[in-house]
Amino acid sequence: MQYHVNGFRAGSPHLAEAAPDLPQPGDPLPSFVDVLIVGCGPAGLTLAAQMARFADINTRIIDQRPGPLEVGQADGVACRSMEMFEAFGFADKVEREAYWVNETSFWRPAGDVAGGIERSHRIQDVEDDLSEFPHTILNQARIHDFFLQDMAQSPRRLVPDYDRTITGLSVDPDGADYPVTAHIRHGPADAAGQDETVRARYVIGCDGARSAVRRLLGLQLRGDSANKLWGVMDVLGVTDFPDVRLKCAIQSHHGGMLIIPREGGYMARFYIEMDKLAPTERVADRAISPDQLISAARTILSPYSLEVKEIAWWSAYEIGQRVTDSFDDVPPDARDHCTPRVFIAGDACHTHSPKAGQGMNVSMADSFNLGWKLAAVLRQQSPPSLLHSYQAERHAKAVELIEFDREMAALISGTNKDAAGDAQENAAIYQQYFTKHGRYTAGVETRYAPSDLIAVGTYHHLAKGLVIGKRFHSAPVIRLADAKPCELAHTIKADGRWRLFAFAGDKDRGQTEFADGVAALCAALESHPQSPLKARGAATTENATDPDAVVDLRAVFQAHHHELAIETMPNLLKPLKGKLGLIDYEKIFSAHITSDVPANIRAKKDIYALREIDRKQGCLVVVRPDQYVANILPLSAVEELVTFFSGVFGD
Ligand code: FAD
Repeated sequence: MQYHVNGFRAGSPHLAEAAPDLPQPGDPLPSFVDVLIVGCGPAGLTLAAQMARFADINTRIIDQRPGPLEVGQADGVACRSMEMFEAFGFADKVEREAYWVNETSFWRPAGDVAGGIERSHRIQDVEDDLSEFPHTILNQARIHDFFLQDMAQSPRRLVPDYDRTITGLSVDPDGADYPVTAHIRHGPADAAGQDETVRARYVIGCDGARSAVRRLLGLQLRGDSANKLWGVMDVLGVTDFPDVRLKCAIQSHHGGMLIIPREGGYMARFYIEMDKLAPTERVADRAISPDQLISAARTILSPYSLEVKEIAWWSAYEIGQRVTDSFDDVPPDARDHCTPRVFIAGDACHTHSPKAGQGMNVSMADSFNLGWKLAAVLRQQSPPSLLHSYQAERHAKAVELIEFDREMAALISGTNKDAAGDAQENAAIYQQYFTKHGRYTAGVETRYAPSDLIAVGTYHHLAKGLVIGKRFHSAPVIRLADAKPCELAHTIKADGRWRLFAFAGDKDRGQTEFADGVAALCAALESHPQSPLKARGAATTENATDPDAVVDLRAVFQAHHHELAIETMPNLLKPLKGKLGLIDYEKIFSAHITSDVPANIRAKKDIYALREIDRKQGCLVVVRPDQYVANILPLSAVEELVTFFSGVFGD
């Protein structure tokens, strides 16, 4: 973590310097804002935490609830979400508090209907080197807390405005500065409220499966109209079922159940798949009670016993596999002349079963994709047309997710058969499916299609273990200046910056006389008139003190760090920063992993071997602000780099 760049500041380094003219606690909503976010779920809070980092963007977030979520809802945190939390700076807190899903156990029907269940298999949950982070389980409310803390410490000191419900929305097609008008009712749902009107440059509906913003845009969730009823309860209980501290997929003669052990060591979540609801039926019509859920869980677990001591939270909720046609307010035939002003994200766009634990993860991924793009447009670094890429990238992912969920749901539901043979066979198929799709559920399979933001991959052979369009897969390196072992991807913070990782060829030590090496790249980036490193938009002021405000260059060398000389490295890799012009020492790394690296940092392989980077030539990897690999180029391909960035910045 870097701080004191603008002079010594006492106190917590997590508390960023505050933006000027911040609102006071209790102030009403302003009449004009840059960004209005509706909904404090995982989608809204991820976006709010991202936007709050920009001192010059006035963001507000509202929710109809009276205060933060305290308990319940989703709990699965995929490895990819942990990687994103690292960019926000709280992955370590989640690691400490959460349950880690190291193994998954599968249970199947034993013998005939009277035979109960038997364990069929135990597998490693996350394959080796899939991510540097574990798959974790933590109450959604705690994830909200971490985002809320982060927002409150950010330059905007952003705190949600609760008790506010969006009731109306209109977009002025003449494109005034603040073209979106939002009508908001302030006050508890059951009392007469007071109306507020806010005009915004952009409005984002992160308001869940029953999204009012989606309805106000005239969009609909389409798909499976047969809603599934799910029962879920967080139980403090006593059982002789041996795998209660492992994630378990149980298939019995009496239906399926998932057990998700919870943080803290004592609690477990039981997901019980109940009946289908009729098209006109609502979950409330069934009057589900916790006793019904306990009884269903006992029947499935039989012959094992379950004594419930306390239910911390329970819910019965309905799920259909659905997705909206569009994630923004631009009709398909107007995309070439209109840019979006209103977006929806998270459950407002897609709903699916909780089986693969995707609800919270995909919702956060939606808004992590959108946040940096909104910032780039508002800060005039990229043209508004950049915002079309949100719909293009995330809608495609939502359609994929719905297909995946439908397939997985059919597999589990197909187990409830009378013949034990069929059920056992089905359990085996489910287990194979689960294993095969581990990467998908870990969130690391997301791959964006080629566009202005994702290159076609002409030079993919230079780093075959990294995939253009997928997230930048981290690996350990040693920081040159202080010999600190670190993960390279952890240099990518949620700060809206693009990253260039220059991987040096085997002979390159950063010396200026080395042709086509890192020093030559630095010289070209400093002298090229259209260099992507040049100041642009709102970052022009920042660039005066922070030359990497838009694009952040870092370099990795193959030699042992004792064989590299920091004093002769190019100045671009040791830029002067902040009000005092201090040297940033944290941009140069060695790939040579020595024996003093902790054993849990994967074995003896270095990043070149792990990510199959061409040792002879090296390469340049371009990474987006949301950590996705945008391009892989030879170190000497500066013209191609300039052309790529002209598509991003609209130069
Ligand atoms: P949400 O988390 O739904 O957040 C939407 C927010 O918008 C809410 O805070 C809401 O108060 C606010 N809002 C809604 N309408 C308005 C309005 N008009 N004006 C202002 N604010 C508004 N997933 C699992 O994986 N496992 C589970 O066990 C599980 N249980 C769930 C139980 C329930 C009762 C619910 C509702 C969902 C559950 N989910 C579960 C789904 C998971 O919580 C969601 O996928 C995830 O929260 C989606 O995040 P989101 O930010 O898109 O929406």
